[in-house]
Amino acid sequence: MVLAAFTDKCFPTGGSQRKGLAFRAVVVLLAAIAVFAGIGRGSAATAGTVKALDYKMAGDATHMRIVLNFDREPEPKWFLLRAPHRLVIDLPDTALMFDARDLKPRGLIANVRYGASGEGGSRLMVTSKGPFNVDKVDILENSDGKGYRAVVDISAASEREFDAALAEQAATTASTVSTPKSDRIGKTAQRGDHPFTIVIDPGHGGVDGGAEGLNGTVEKSVTLAFAKELKSKLDDGGAYKVVLTREGDDFLRLDDRVRIARQNAADLFISIHADTIRLKGIRGATVYTVSDKASDADAQALADRENLSDQLAGVDVAEENHEVSDILVDLIRRETHGFSTRFARSLVSELSPTVGMINNPHRSAGFRVLKAPDVPSVLVELGYLSNAKDEEQLRSAEWREKAASSIAKAIGAFVAQRGGTGG
Ligand SMILES: [Zn+2]
Repeated sequence: MVLAAFTDKCFPTGGSQRKGLAFRAVVVLLAAIAVFAGIGRGSAATAGTVKALDYKMAGDATHMRIVLNFDREPEPKWFLLRAPHRLVIDLPDTALMFDARDLKPRGLIANVRYGASGEGGSRLMVTSKGPFNVDKVDILENSDGKGYRAVVDISAASEREFDAALAEQAATTASTVSTPKSDRIGKTAQRGDHPFTIVIDPGHGGVDGGAEGLNGTVEKSVTLAFAKELKSKLDDGGAYKVVLTREGDDFLRLDDRVRIARQNAADLFISIHADTIRLKGIRGATVYTVSDKASDADAQALADRENLSDQLAGVDVAEENHEVSDILVDLIRRETHGFSTRFARSLVSELSPTVGMINNPHRSAGFRVLKAPDVPSVLVELGYLSNAKDEEQLRSAEWREKAASSIAKAIGAFVAQRGGTGG
């Protein structure tokens, strides 16, 4: 990774190529000092040059925050590039002096590169896993009076949203520091001819097998078989776009599942599960929506177990509590929650007569996989693998067909209620 940053040659340099190369050599030298001597600050930069002292990023596959610290006020300009989806930050008259190890990609960010650009300037190129929104780029004075910091927030978004931002960029030539249009997160205004999009998420996969039935049925297989059945049911009518988060036996992080929903501009996200419970007599389906406070102890226990999925697969989730606290996001979240609840009710009424449900079949808890702020999301427990009868049903193609039909009906009712397929 360190070497990749040093040897990067893909930068279009603004000024003369020779000067660019010479400057890059300085950057490399400084970075090398930072890496090998363990110090982040050099003194070789000329007097007029702003120093970018460090680079930090944190977040997950849906949101990332990048923070750059400067000794003086920087004047960054940023713009977007596609194929792959990138955020380019130009820093005129700035020397990059940060530790290359901090550029290690994570979450939504697939790659970070940097190099010289123009007369004494530098360029950072941040490549995302798929389309994203720039939620904000702020330059703030540090409260201790020592220098400034640039705070950049990006979040996974649909191709359509990325295109809209590119078009806006083309119209205004170059962006400087700015807060993007407030309706960027709320995509309702931009739907147009967008087909009603359903993302179906077969729970677990790969090293994370999920629950195991009395007769050896593995949850990850049941959820995938069911998701495929549901997709084919929904594809039949031709009214929807249907996307599966996984098509094979693959491990997928919880936040990657949410990212797929957001990048497809999903109108509905349905996570499919079939877990176990202590009491073997309990059977039937349950529909969950997200809530801060669990509806009951069993729902809490289930959410805790589901949320462990990433740790089971050895994914480091230590720094991934990046909650977006923005009034707009809060409003959208509330509206989304209303839609999720409405869809959950519709599911309960369609599933009750056909597949049978547990008592109080609509429950809630803090499921991480249901946390896209702008996508109505539910988690369906099809039944309990701890119950012999449920396990037998879950293995039956006929039963799957019947249950999938009921869910498709519930989706139809939800779409009709929302007023057509345009969302
Ligand atoms: Zn599960």
